[in-house]
Amino acid sequence: MAGSERDGKGGTRSYDAVIVGGSLAGCATAMFLGRAGARVAVVEKSPDPAAFKRICSHFIQASAVPTLERLDLLGPMEAAGAVRPRFHARVPWGWIEAPPERAGRGVNLRRSKLDPMLRERAAATPGVELLLGQTVKEVRRAGAKVIGVVARDREGVETIIEAPLTIGADGRDSAVVGLAGVKEKTYPHGRFAYGGYFEGVALRHTPDASVWMMDPDWAAAFPTDDGLTFCAVMPTKDRLPEFKPDPVAAMLDYFDAAPEAPSLRAATLSDEGVLGKIDMTNRMRTPTAPGLALVGDAALATDPLFGIGCGWAFQTAEWLADSVAPALRGEEELEAGLRRYRRKHGRRLRGHAWMIHDYATGRKLQPPERLIFSAAARDPRVATIFDAFGTRRIGAARMMATGTPLALAVNARYALARRRGRVDAAPSSVDPGRGTEPIDLGSPVGDKGLRVESERAGAGARKAA
Ligand SMILES: Cc1cc2nc3c(=O)[nH]c(=O)nc-3n(C[C@H](O)[C@H](O)[C@H](O)COP(=O)(O)OP(=O)(O)OC[C@H]3O[C@@H](n4cnc5c(N)ncnc54)[C@H](O)[C@@H]3O)c2cc1C
Repeated sequence: MAGSERDGKGGTRSYDAVIVGGSLAGCATAMFLGRAGARVAVVEKSPDPAAFKRICSHFIQASAVPTLERLDLLGPMEAAGAVRPRFHARVPWGWIEAPPERAGRGVNLRRSKLDPMLRERAAATPGVELLLGQTVKEVRRAGAKVIGVVARDREGVETIIEAPLTIGADGRDSAVVGLAGVKEKTYPHGRFAYGGYFEGVALRHTPDASVWMMDPDWAAAFPTDDGLTFCAVMPTKDRLPEFKPDPVAAMLDYFDAAPEAPSLRAATLSDEGVLGKIDMTNRMRTPTAPGLALVGDAALATDPLFGIGCGWAFQTAEWLADSVAPALRGEEELEAGLRRYRRKHGRRLRGHAWMIHDYATGRKLQPPERLIFSAAARDPRVATIFDAFGTRRIGAARMMATGTPLALAVNARYALARRRGRVDAAPSSVDPGRGTEPIDLGSPVGDKGLRVESERAGAGARKAA
């Protein structure tokens, strides 16, 4: 650390890495790097250590559970009331029910509990310094290389933070991306979202989560801590005029229309009301540049319909920290670590992102999806593959390669049974006792693959931060 300082601000400070953004991705990256022996600054614009992201249904997919375990977070999250849900999807052909022993179990804890917990743990990690209430306004460069940032506090005091590695963990609207001139691709989003916490939701699968994918209507109910259930809808944008005047009433109607969905009329909406998000344009950025890496939403902010951003915030933090730790210990050039991270990010997430962006337009299900979804509702083996993909434990290529032949066979037998007038017997005649056979899903395929606008949402609603 060098230069003048006032209350830990001002002057010039030096670290091994500076992380912009102290939310899920930023704090997780800091914890991993601190544990690897690096000196890390986390610059977070909110001055409040208890700040949290308000628009988020925080369903953390099973793919991220090993990362949470490695961070020693899973136990504390469960102690704070986190539920460990599987998920059940209601599609036009019925419920998709993976056998419980094979279904992935995610984690669900409200961000009001998770974010402060994570920030506290990051701050307690040796080597990690949290600089709260400071906003990054400038990225410093030496030629093409990023060499740190300039952060400004609310009184206008500027601190120069130098580091061989700058990490953008500043979310969907990342300032770092713009300041560093990182390449970005955007993909249109054809839906809007409204959601809120309800008490007393009579959900068929509690404590598991339920999702209605009714082509193109979409709704979900995620049980979480303190007996609450986060209920959300993501209709296509042509239905916005129905929702704008009274989002709460429109949401209740929407749930009433979803097959085998609980009525929200008998449940109690929390004081926070219903929050909405209208613009969720998908954003994909090149995750590295010289001296720079992006994690979480800063690298890939994609359709929340699939509940993947929180899990990927943790996972990308882990991938980056593991990739660059040798360089930060002086064992290799930083570029080698960044290259490793860029490749892993692409291998693990590109296939998922491609499918998610394609569906995000609000289009109807296409034949390959109809094939898998219908067969998954009829056969537990296809349901298991669907579940492994939906919980992001396998990639798109693995899902299609293992699921398609099986789905074709299941649907052919179903059609035959229907022709013989044995429709009801079809699912069991397709798989007599075979639902318990092991399925080789292989290794995760990756190991070899809103402008943000908050909406005021009618009665009882609050404007989101
Ligand atoms: C409607 C909706 C529902 C969602 N539901 C789910 C879900 O069910 N499951 C799921 O996994 N994901 C969900 N997500 C996505 C999830 O919220 C994000 O993917 C996740 O929060 C990303 O974490 P992050 O740490 O990358 O970014 P963020 O949580 O956005 O954090 C960015 C941090 O950077 C700070 N920051 C920003 N700019 C600066 C700056 N210039 N200087 C300093 N600090 C800065 C911010 O204050 C913030 O703390 C949902 C998203 C939406 C919009």
